[in-house]
Amino acid sequence: PTRQPFDLSRELNPQQLAVVEADPGEILVLAGAGTGKTRTLTYRVARLVAGGCHPERILLCTFTNRAAREMVARVESLLGVEMRRCSAGTFHHVGNRILRRYGAAIGLSPDFGILDPEDARTLLSAVVAEFGLQTLTARRFPQPKVLANLISLAANTRKPLLQVVEEHGLRLLDQAVMVEEVAVRFAERKRHMNVCDFDDLLIHWLRLLEEPKLADVAALVRGAYDHVLVDEYQDVSAIQGALVDAMAKGHGSLVCVGDDAQSIYGFRGADFAQIAEFRARHPNARLYPLTINYRSTPEVLALANRSIARNVKQYPKELVAVKKPGVKPAVIPLRDVFQQAEFIAQRVLELHHEYDLPLARMAVLYRNHSHSLELQVELTRRQIPYSVRSGLRFFEQAHIKDVVAYLRARQNPQDSLSWIRLLRLWPGIGAQTAEQLAVLLAKETSAGNASSGAVLAEQAGLARGRARPALQRLAELWAILEDPNLRSPGAMIREVVARHYGEYTERNFPNAAARKDDLEHLAGYAERYDGANEFLSELALVQGMSAENVLGAEEPDDMLVLSTVHQAKGLEWPICFVLWLAEGRFPMATAVRDPADLEEERRLFYVAATRAADELYCCYPVIEETRDGPSHIMRPSRFLVEIDHNPAVFERWQIEEAPAGE
Ligand code: ATP
Ligand code: MG
Repeated sequence: PTRQPFDLSRELNPQQLAVVEADPGEILVLAGAGTGKTRTLTYRVARLVAGGCHPERILLCTFTNRAAREMVARVESLLGVEMRRCSAGTFHHVGNRILRRYGAAIGLSPDFGILDPEDARTLLSAVVAEFGLQTLTARRFPQPKVLANLISLAANTRKPLLQVVEEHGLRLLDQAVMVEEVAVRFAERKRHMNVCDFDDLLIHWLRLLEEPKLADVAALVRGAYDHVLVDEYQDVSAIQGALVDAMAKGHGSLVCVGDDAQSIYGFRGADFAQIAEFRARHPNARLYPLTINYRSTPEVLALANRSIARNVKQYPKELVAVKKPGVKPAVIPLRDVFQQAEFIAQRVLELHHEYDLPLARMAVLYRNHSHSLELQVELTRRQIPYSVRSGLRFFEQAHIKDVVAYLRARQNPQDSLSWIRLLRLWPGIGAQTAEQLAVLLAKETSAGNASSGAVLAEQAGLARGRARPALQRLAELWAILEDPNLRSPGAMIREVVARHYGEYTERNFPNAAARKDDLEHLAGYAERYDGANEFLSELALVQGMSAENVLGAEEPDDMLVLSTVHQAKGLEWPICFVLWLAEGRFPMATAVRDPADLEEERRLFYVAATRAADELYCCYPVIEETRDGPSHIMRPSRFLVEIDHNPAVFERWQIEEAPAGE
């Protein structure tokens, strides 16, 4: 028997233990919220490692990189072993890792850049503009955002683009051929620039595994791992499902866990039909249930269960609470959004002070990020510290992207988007010049006969007016960035700030000091990476993270959590507030027309409710003020109305109006 440094049977119930100790093979765990799916997966990894499997032989796919880090940290603390080499993270994260190593087989050079969704849209717009489509058919041709979604949906569902256009954009049907041409040109362009967007990380990875000519490479990629484990399988898209299968094909050691009732990414091409298809594709897979919910009180579960029972499409699952009875969830009509914000702030303070509950043990969840604005104002007014999990994305801020563009152009001179971005920061260089220069830089450097620095110096000699000194300074900066002794991305960032961007910030931003602070944090963060490539890939992949999460910047220790429901998946808090539970907001107005969309919306409510361990507060404003017109009465969310029968699963609260003059 293997050495067991921890006593599994004390940490897990018999159902969970059965999964952890099962012989390697195809395993599917289909179980409700809070039944310990993630915990079980973590212990399975720990047991594999304790049994002698090297961490680097394990592939663990999770929905966020943060979740992966937490699972890996837990294994480290259980076993006292170093897990750094374990491939754990999102599918994109893993795809990036694999393509750096094996991408050469499909003509991808190892220093390829990654386009985040915003960059990809910018490039797509440029391609559309080249076709002259914007002007020719301005009203008819889809906007870049719509187009990008269609292309991404095709990639994720593995359907032909034409079919996706047919299914999702009937209006565009007569343009479908053009859409396809644009997509082809877009793909060519990315290849030319030596960049991948997020979907490419999956598409190319799958090509490595499936292309008949590449069987040798496929064997290597597959052979790099002995075990594949996947959390949140219900939100896997068709291409991700195919990747999982292809990676597990050789050894057949595969554990997937998920809950169809929590499938909430359908709009992005995820499909819980993958669960059914998994069973069809793996007829020998063993199916394990987990039925005990450890997270929530019976009262919270009763509400969540009654709501999700209204969905037609779902697998029947048993879910029983083990926690002692607590209090019923509260439903709270508030006068308007301002009273809603006041109520939450007030209640948070009461719980914090009277019960000594840390703020971080409470969360406010909402359907859309914009629903939290009044609350953010109220919390700031009362000086209640809070962190927004899905807030303004640190890395999407202009000053961060500007400085990162320098590093990206430095690593990959073919990256003309980054060149254009950074060139335009200089006085005397307009859009047209920037574009011409970017093309020239890409061309000269790809022939291999010149460095970017040399090209810039030469161009400085040719330039006129203000562009001349600007290009001279840029060339000097570039000579420094290209110095082989300067390897650390942190040091590169500091050079860029010291020699150009600091001054640029002072001239262009009112809050220059705060921005320079951000950049210093960024440099400090970048120091953790040995090379710029590693840093840049990680950057491009940390979608949806705020500065606090990524940089670990100084933050008050204890903060209330604000999050969209989507971002809260897999997490838990003793106290949860859900706000704006009104028709038109949650469910969203656009989701109520189509039964499938409405079911997804209800699953979203189920996810929200099942995040709460002890207390759940469902809030909605009764009156909506409109800017000019008359205010109107909001109807409570159907998710509350439809579960409001005997026996009551919630308690209705009445909030007194604050006395006038307060
Ligand atoms: P979700 O569906 O929301 O992703 P999940 O099924 O992944 O939930 P976990 O997050 O793994 O569930 O577990 C929920 C909570 O229950 C966690 O706090 C976890 O530590 C606890 N838990 C799970 N199993 C046990 C157990 N056997 N003993 C004690 N606590 C447990
Ligand atoms: Mg989980």
